[in-house]
Amino acid sequence: MPTEDGTGYLLTGEKVFTGNGDIADLLAVLATAREDGHRRVGVFFLDTSDPGFRVRSRLEFMGGRGLPNAALTLDGLRVPREHVLLGEPDLPRFPPPVGSVALLSALFFNAAPALAIARQCLEWSHSFVARRSVNGRPLGDYDQVQRILATTAAEVFAMDTVVRWCLLDAGLEDRWFERAAAKNLVTVTAWRIVDRTVSLLGGEGFETAHSKERRGAVPLPVERLFRDARGLRISGNVDFLLDVQAARLLLTGRYATAAAAAAGAAPGVTTGGGAGTASAASGAASGVAATGPGADLIPANQAHLAAARQGLRRFDRVSARLVARHQDPEELFARQETLRLLGRIAAELFSVAAVLARAATEGGDQQQELADVHCTAARHRLAGLWRRLGAPDEPDYAKISRLSAAAVS
Ligand SMILES: Cc1cc2nc3c(=O)[nH]c(=O)nc-3n(C[C@H](O)[C@H](O)[C@H](O)COP(=O)(O)OP(=O)(O)OC[C@H]3O[C@@H](n4cnc5c(N)ncnc54)[C@H](O)[C@@H]3O)c2cc1C
Repeated sequence: MPTEDGTGYLLTGEKVFTGNGDIADLLAVLATAREDGHRRVGVFFLDTSDPGFRVRSRLEFMGGRGLPNAALTLDGLRVPREHVLLGEPDLPRFPPPVGSVALLSALFFNAAPALAIARQCLEWSHSFVARRSVNGRPLGDYDQVQRILATTAAEVFAMDTVVRWCLLDAGLEDRWFERAAAKNLVTVTAWRIVDRTVSLLGGEGFETAHSKERRGAVPLPVERLFRDARGLRISGNVDFLLDVQAARLLLTGRYATAAAAAAGAAPGVTTGGGAGTASAASGAASGVAATGPGADLIPANQAHLAAARQGLRRFDRVSARLVARHQDPEELFARQETLRLLGRIAAELFSVAAVLARAATEGGDQQQELADVHCTAARHRLAGLWRRLGAPDEPDYAKISRLSAAAVS
C-alpha cells in the first residue's frame, strides 16, 4: 500500500524461495500495489537493512546448494516510490522493461548453469567411456554407448546455439519469443543429458562423490549435477507451465493481428509489449529457414530444413484455426494441454532452425553432423507432439483425477 505522504510504499507479507534473500543488501520483489482503487503489478527494490525486513528461514533445496535462498517476512517495509517500477493500472502484466529483463536474466540464471552442467556431463561421459571396457570390449564400441555420446554432444551443440541466438542482439526487447522459449529448451535438455549420463555411468552415476572418494574411485559428483539440473526446471517457473505461457504469448499475438486485420489496419501495427508479434516463433525460424543457405547444408540437413519449413506452415495453419474457432481468447487459453503442446512444438522448431542456420554458416563437418543428430531427435519429438495435438480421443483425465483423489482420501 502507498505511504500516507505518497512518497513510497509499505510492503507487508511473506515471500518464499528468494535467491540470495538472506545475504543481499538490495532485493527485487514482485508485488501488486493497490492505489486509488486500482491494482498495479510491479517490481519493488527493497533495502534489507529496513527494520521491516526479516529472514524467516534459510531454505534448503534438493540441489543448487551454492545458491543461498530464503523465506522472508516483510512487515511494513518502506520502499521509496523511485525504487518501484509499476505496470499499467488493472493490467495483469509487468511493465515492459521488467518482463524483458526477466527473460534475459533467465539466460544467465537458468540457461547458463544448465549449459555448464551439460558440458560437464559430456566431458565426464567421455572420460568414463575411455577408461572402461565391458566383456573384453571397450565401452565406446557399443552401439548404445555411441548413441548416448553422440546425442549428448548434439544436444550440447543445440543448447549452445539456442543461447547464442538469443544473445545476438543486445536490445532488451529483441528476440522475445526465443528468449521466452530458451529457458525451458535448455533446462529440459540439460535434464535429459544428466539423466542419460547417470545411466551411462551406472553405479558410479548414482553414487555420491564422497562415497567414491572413500573407496578410491574418481569422485565425479554426477549425482550433484542431477539434483542441480532438476532445480533449473523449477526456478523461474515449472517446465510445463512455461510451455503453456510461451504458446499463450504466440496466440495473443495472433488474436491482436486478427483484430487489426478485421479493423483494416496494416499487419503489425497492433504489436504491444511483444505479445502482438503474431507468430514470432514461426517468424524467427522461418526467417532462418528462408534466408538460410540450404545449399550449404549436407543432404540430411537439407531434408531437416524442408521438414522445418513444413512444420512452420503447419504451426501457422493450426494456430490460425484455433484462433478462428475460439472468439474468446480465454476459452482457448483454458485448454492447457493444447497450449503446452503448441509451446513445445514452437520451441522445437526454433531449435531446429537455429541449429541448421549455425551449421550452414559455420559449415564444419562436425557441426553439420551434430546438427543432423539434433534435428533427427527433434523431429521424432515433434512427430509425437503433433500426434498428441491432433489426437481425436483421449482418456477422461478430469474424471480419472477426481476418482483418484477420492480413492486416496
Ligand atoms: C533453486 C530455486 C531457486 C529459486 N529462486 C527464486 C528466486 O530467486 N526468486 C523467486 O521469486 N522465486 C524463486 N524460486 C521459486 C520458483 O520461481 C517457484 O518455485 C516456481 O515459480 C514455482 O512456483 P511455486 O513453487 O510458488 O509453485 P505454486 O505457484 O505454488 O504452484 C505449485 C504447483 O502447482 C501447479 N500449478 C501452479 N499453477 C498452475 C496452473 N496455472 N495450472 C496448472 N498447474 C499449476 C504446478 O505443479 C506448480 O508447481 C526458486 C525455486 C528454486 C527451486
